[in-house]
Amino acid sequence: MNKLEQYIKENGKVINGEILKVDTFLNHQVDPALMKEIGENFYNYFKKYPINKVVTIETSGIAPALMCAACFGVPMVFIKKAVPSTMSDAYHAEVFSFTKNKTYHISVSKEFLSENDHILFIDDFLANGEAFLGVENICKEAKATIEGVGIVIDKAFQKGHQKIIDKGYDLCSLAQIAALDENGVHFLKEQ
Ligand code: 5GP
Repeated sequence: MNKLEQYIKENGKVINGEILKVDTFLNHQVDPALMKEIGENFYNYFKKYPINKVVTIETSGIAPALMCAACFGVPMVFIKKAVPSTMSDAYHAEVFSFTKNKTYHISVSKEFLSENDHILFIDDFLANGEAFLGVENICKEAKATIEGVGIVIDKAFQKGHQKIIDKGYDLCSLAQIAALDENGVHFLKEQ
């Protein structure tokens, strides 16, 4: 997606050669027009599947996931990073965070995920695929079907991309990064 790559080139900041900061349009301040286009791109790619729910993990996946869910006309469910006291019956998984270097707990109420669901997982970044593995475990427990994986910024030089492909999932990444270094961001190919 050319516009997204342009935004990344103009606004992205590389930290320690492996983390990309995009706080101006995705991770802190959010650009609604760009999110709308991102949602439409995912919709156009995944509309061939019988998706009835778009799933993400809070926080930064919510904006693109919501825009995509609006295109499908289906609910968006965000998996929570903490277990609220109000959530009694839930599916749980552990996720190792690449950026925070620690393991955290994710959970979703059993009310919102079941064997009848055909889900599209959307996330802001793909690094080592740990967040996806947590979501996959939760979907397995709920017997929900993952129809596809939509990633806004895929750091293809890390392990997650190949892991998801090797598992046989249909992966759509709107920007694929080949490398991050002191000169900035190098894209793998234009989407
Ligand atoms: P993974 O689970 O694939 O190892 O990492 C993906 C998750 O870590 C994303 O949900 C995102 O929150 C965070 N993440 C990974 N790499 C980056 C990065 O370069 N920049 C930002 N802002 N978040 C990242």
